[in-house]
Amino acid sequence: MQAPNPDLQDSGQAASSGQALGLAGTAGATCVACGYPLRGLSSEGVCPECGTPVRESLQGMLLQHASRDYLRSLRVGVTIVMVGVIASIFTGILAEVGGSVIGATGLTTRAGARSIAQATEAGLDLLTSIALFFGYVKLTEPDPRFVDGREPNGARKVVRVTAAIMIVTALVATAVAALAQLGVGTRGLAVGNAGAIANAVAAPAEIVGTLAWIVGAIAWVVQFFAMMQYVRWLASRVPDFRLATWSTRYMWLLPLLFTVGCVLLGLGPIVAFVLYWVHLYRLRRQLVCIERTGAPAHLAGALPETPYRQRPDPTYLVP
Ligand SMILES: [Zn+2]
Repeated sequence: MQAPNPDLQDSGQAASSGQALGLAGTAGATCVACGYPLRGLSSEGVCPECGTPVRESLQGMLLQHASRDYLRSLRVGVTIVMVGVIASIFTGILAEVGGSVIGATGLTTRAGARSIAQATEAGLDLLTSIALFFGYVKLTEPDPRFVDGREPNGARKVVRVTAAIMIVTALVATAVAALAQLGVGTRGLAVGNAGAIANAVAAPAEIVGTLAWIVGAIAWVVQFFAMMQYVRWLASRVPDFRLATWSTRYMWLLPLLFTVGCVLLGLGPIVAFVLYWVHLYRLRRQLVCIERTGAPAHLAGALPETPYRQRPDPTYLVP
C-alpha cells in the first residue's frame, strides 16, 4: 500500500512534460523569476527583464519550476516558524519553573516570584513573536511570477499582518508585566514615587494588558486559518495531496482539539500543537526535497487516488 505506484509516478511525469508541451504559447505567462509579462515572446528566448530563459516560465505552477530564491525563502521561513512554535510552547513552562525557583530561594515574596515569572514569560513571548514574524514573512514571500498583482492567495498577506499584530500585543503585554513587576517590587517598601506611580496605573495597565491579550488571541486564531489555507495552496504546488487535504481538515480538527480537547487532562492543545508542527514538518520535507532534487518527495498519500493524467494541473486544489 505504501509502495510507490509506478502508474501514478509515470502519469506525474507525463503531466509535467504535457504541461511543457501544452503551454508552448507565451500568452498570459509571466516570468518565473521577475513576473515580467512574456506575451508575444518566443519560448526559445530569454526574459528581457532578467534574462531567465522563457522556457522555464512555461512549466506550470509547480514549485519545482519556481525560482531558486523563492524556494530557499520558503524553506528558511518554515524552519524558523517550526523552531518558533516549539519555543512558544516552552517559554510558558520555562517561566513557570523559573518563578518557582525564585520563590523557593526566599529572595522575594510569593507574589513577587509570580510577578517575575509573568514578566519573564511576557519577555520571552515577545522574542518568540519577533522570531515567528520573520519566519512567517519568509514563508509567505510573494512568488516573483505573481509580481504583477495576480496574487492567487490573499491568505499570504493575512499571515503577515497577524504576525505583525502579535509582536505589538506581545510588546504591550511585556510593558504591562514589567510595570506590575515594578509595582510589586516597590510596594513592599511602601516608599518612593516609583511605587506610587506603579500603583496608580496598575488598574488601567491591567485593562490594557487584557485588551492586548484578547487582540493577540484573535490575531493568533485568524493566522491559524490563513496559514492552513496558505499551506493548502503550497501543497497543491508540490503537489502533495495529503498535505492539502489535511490542511482543510485541520481547520476544524485543531480548533476542536484546542477547545473541547482541553477537558481531556488539558492534552488537547498539546496534541493540536504537535499536529500543527508535524504538518509544517511535512511541508518542509517537500520543500527541501524539491530544492535538492528538483522533484517532490515520495511521501505516503502525496498523490491522489485519481491519476494526474485526468488532472494535468494540480492547482485545481486552489479554492
Ligand atoms: Zn524575468
